[in-house]
Amino acid sequence: MQARRTKIVATLGPSSSSPERIEALVLAGMDVARLNFSHGTADEHRQRAELVREHARRHGRYVALMADLQGPKIRIGRFAAGRVELCEGQSFDLWTSPDAGLGTPAGVGVDFAPLTRDCGAGDELLLDDGRIVLRVEKVEPDCVRTTVAVGGELSDHKGINRRGGGLSAPALTEKDHRDIGHAARIGVDFVAVSFPRRGQDIEQARRLVRAAGSSAWLIAKIERAEVVADDEALEDIIAASDGVMVARGDLGVEVGDAELVAIQKRIIGHARRCNKLVITATQMMESMVASPMPTRAEVSDVANAVLDYTDAVMLSAESASGRYPVGAVQAMARVCLGAERHASTDESTHRLGEVIERGDEAIALSAMYAANHFSGVAAVVSLTESGHTPLIMSRIRSAVPIYAFSRHATTLRRMTLVRGVSPVPFDAGEYPESRLPAAIIAELGHRGLVAQGDWVVLTRGDLEAGVGGTNAMTLWRVPGDAVGDGD
Ligand code: PGA
Ligand code: MN
Repeated sequence: MQARRTKIVATLGPSSSSPERIEALVLAGMDVARLNFSHGTADEHRQRAELVREHARRHGRYVALMADLQGPKIRIGRFAAGRVELCEGQSFDLWTSPDAGLGTPAGVGVDFAPLTRDCGAGDELLLDDGRIVLRVEKVEPDCVRTTVAVGGELSDHKGINRRGGGLSAPALTEKDHRDIGHAARIGVDFVAVSFPRRGQDIEQARRLVRAAGSSAWLIAKIERAEVVADDEALEDIIAASDGVMVARGDLGVEVGDAELVAIQKRIIGHARRCNKLVITATQMMESMVASPMPTRAEVSDVANAVLDYTDAVMLSAESASGRYPVGAVQAMARVCLGAERHASTDESTHRLGEVIERGDEAIALSAMYAANHFSGVAAVVSLTESGHTPLIMSRIRSAVPIYAFSRHATTLRRMTLVRGVSPVPFDAGEYPESRLPAAIIAELGHRGLVAQGDWVVLTRGDLEAGVGGTNAMTLWRVPGDAVGDGD
């Protein structure tokens, strides 16, 4: 059977912390475990990370770790009664002074003093992921006076967004600084940055991550309306990151749900054209928080993201706090495989007509052209140091599997997020030049990935050239003795 190409990111939380659950998630196909630093303690994240590593090793799988920083999510404070019921038409105040005290049905504190600067009469403020809508009537020095447009129950610490975006807290908080240290000590492979406004925010995060001793790849969460308002802002963030997340929760609240589908397609397309990774996230199988089966609409949503050519789809509450975390991963895996039967195509206009500046990219694209157009190619193998060549390869649509052969565990784990790429631990330095292709084909043969007569496209660089050194592509035919007898 064809292996799944689209990757699955599963958020860990109270429902997915026991050794048994984590093992089951690894076996069900979790490719990346997301540690959500908006919840839980550093210790809890470290324990989950250790369990992921242990069970991945035990089952011979690569599973990466992603730390997702909380970022400057603006939140209301607490209520004296824990919650209030807001009715349409009533007035409700947001108090920004530090001594606002506990909330009441008349108003609640907000931990963000510039709120009074960043919003004005007529604006809509959305609380609790848009479930509550407040219309701003008047802004006073320490208070935003609003009328409830859509009411409901409002409880402690819910988030606030402004329709259209523009609540502009700096991207990295003091908590994020501390959490970058925790993430580096845990040894995560990816760090996701919440609410970045521009590329500089990602560059700053990258400096902090590197200073903490981590080589993690940086993922920019696209979740502010102003970032998708024009291509320039979006491209600035994409260029500064290694990948992006279509963070549909906050983004959908700010841009409105009707705009979201087109924006998802635009972000995925841009990211791929810029040679970056892309994750599609939030509410993909939301009903599975409480139910063992996804709805048809959710199945369709996951499949649509696969057809859009996302690298990965993500589970949030479904795997972190829902009743069926393992079932959700299994359902996602099944739906991805089904959609991939329709998604692959050997026709690609990726970067056709563009000038390519790097030799390794020229080789990567040539390899995929050969794989897609030369009949009988069963595998593309990239001998890679950093993982850059397989990443570039996988920006081209193809049904041919790409194998990233590397001696570096960090590189192998990064590949868990790259669509169509599977990691294979392999140290090319152990073989003399003349025996290398045979050793690679034998490795594929042992894994049952090629059969006699198949063609293999191989890219490599001179070993001493290091990162970015891929400069050769060769074609090999699998001989009879490379695959096991009789099968
Ligand atoms: P979150 O980010 O789950 O951390 O809020 C994803 C989103 O906003 O969709
Ligand atoms: Mn978010």
